[in-house]
Amino acid sequence: MKPFKRLVLVALLATLFSCSPPDQSVLERFITIGTGSMTGIYYPTGAAICRIINKDYLKHGVRCSVESTGGSIYNANALSNGDLSMGIAQADVTYKAAHGQKPFSKPLTNLRALFALHPESVTLVAMQEAKIKQLNDLRGKRVNIGDPGSGNARTATELLAACGIPLSELALEGRMKAVEMPDALRDHKLDAYFYVVGHPTANIKDISTGTPINLVPLTDPCVDRLLAKNSFFVKTTIPGGMYEGINDSVDTYGVKASLITSAELSEESAYRVVKAVFDNLDGFKALHPAFQLLTAKNMREGLSLPFHPGALRYFREQGWI
Ligand code: GLU
Repeated sequence: MKPFKRLVLVALLATLFSCSPPDQSVLERFITIGTGSMTGIYYPTGAAICRIINKDYLKHGVRCSVESTGGSIYNANALSNGDLSMGIAQADVTYKAAHGQKPFSKPLTNLRALFALHPESVTLVAMQEAKIKQLNDLRGKRVNIGDPGSGNARTATELLAACGIPLSELALEGRMKAVEMPDALRDHKLDAYFYVVGHPTANIKDISTGTPINLVPLTDPCVDRLLAKNSFFVKTTIPGGMYEGINDSVDTYGVKASLITSAELSEESAYRVVKAVFDNLDGFKALHPAFQLLTAKNMREGLSLPFHPGALRYFREQGWI
């Protein structure tokens, strides 16, 4: 090769390498985040994370997309099988997944945490006419427990078992998807539904508009016992004024949502996603009212999975560990 041609080739290669994102070999080009129903908070949360990542597409070459799924249980299983790159899940579900407890038949040992998200409240939405004022009033009522892939189905089943209300004592044990619940209540096909969700959510805004509902407090002694046994559950309050006709705050308990992945995701990809969100925390928080109380500190707390090395790399870089 003539010296000039060689020079051009070297210059060309140098330009190519200086423009291409670093570590392309270990960086996934497409990230899919498994979320939940479109009317919940997981879906807009996944969309908010993707928006922050895609904003810098030209810098890193990673394209993020969001998928509506059944929820936490579906996401944990799909991540473990390699069908999703990231997902959102309740901390009680990820604990059960990691330990192979019901509904998981074996420990999903490859699940890893990226960061914690908003707190979710165990919310029991009831038709006012059904006169459900406390958990015990659910006997003989038509109640949606939840989609089998959802975290709320698991959490609600566990709550009813802990409070001595067998599912067989319900007039109907509903397995509807979250998106179907408001219409089913409005059409008198259900008396109540459980939803483990952040607030405010489009789902409850929808049903509360024009339909008289109440949110049932979950403060029974059996709830206290459940909390004493499970550190990922905490007492919480759904503030009044978020939904039509619900002016007073309602006491209940809740769990944190978290962004999770699998150990197979590259360190580089995990690092970039964590960095993108933490470096733009104010912008991220502005994307949904449920993120209002998030801080860089509480986004590293309340998780029940080991952190992914890519998340640890960012935390170390910040001097947080
Ligand atoms: N916590 C719910 C679940 O896993 C999903 C809530 C949401 O979509 O915001 O089933």
